[in-house]
Amino acid sequence: MKGGKLLIFSAPSGSGKTTIVRHLLEQPELNLAFSVSATSRPRRGKEKHGEHYYFITASEFKKHIRDDDFLEWEEVYRDNFYGTLKSEVERLWAEGKNVIFDIDVAGGLRIKRKFPEETLAVFVKPPSVDELKIRLKKRSTDSDDKINMRIAKASVELATAPQFDKIIKNYDLDTALREARELVADFIAKPKKKAIKKKNT
Ligand code: 5GP
Repeated sequence: MKGGKLLIFSAPSGSGKTTIVRHLLEQPELNLAFSVSATSRPRRGKEKHGEHYYFITASEFKKHIRDDDFLEWEEVYRDNFYGTLKSEVERLWAEGKNVIFDIDVAGGLRIKRKFPEETLAVFVKPPSVDELKIRLKKRSTDSDDKINMRIAKASVELATAPQFDKIIKNYDLDTALREARELVADFIAKPKKKAIKKKNT
């Protein structure tokens, strides 16, 4: 597999990474395309198959695992599988795009290890775990149980931040969006061999 650059945005759920990723996708000069993940979790709200996710059953997901179709996959929450299909990245690279991912911390680091030169891995940091809780409750798309599950995972995820190439603190959204634009533009402009190296490894 070879092609453009890979931009990973990982963070605890509710940190604002999806807002940042959407904003970056609106910048034509970055030439980005979103990697649509496969998931076995149920569809939420207005989510569309093929746009937000490829919604598949757990058994279809497991067949893709057996067939080695994934670049990475994780059981992000119990019985909820998420994964990046190799075919998705190949498709977007064939279109000449740089590929942007909104994926969990473990998956993001896995892609970074597979494509160290091509990948910029960014961790989006929320102001605090309490603030995360408030944001997740405001979003009100999940039950209290699900919110608590996401909060429990957040503390573990926050500890992995130093393994990423860059950390964006999302305390003020406009500042975070500007930082993200600058980081991605710089990385895309760099020839691959001079790609930003991972710190702390
Ligand atoms: P949500 O259910 O809120 O859409 O996503 C839950 C978590 O799964 C988020 O942190 C999201 O970034 C992550 N996620 C989405 N797609 C993938 C994927 O393909 N691989 C991995 N490892 N995580 C993913």
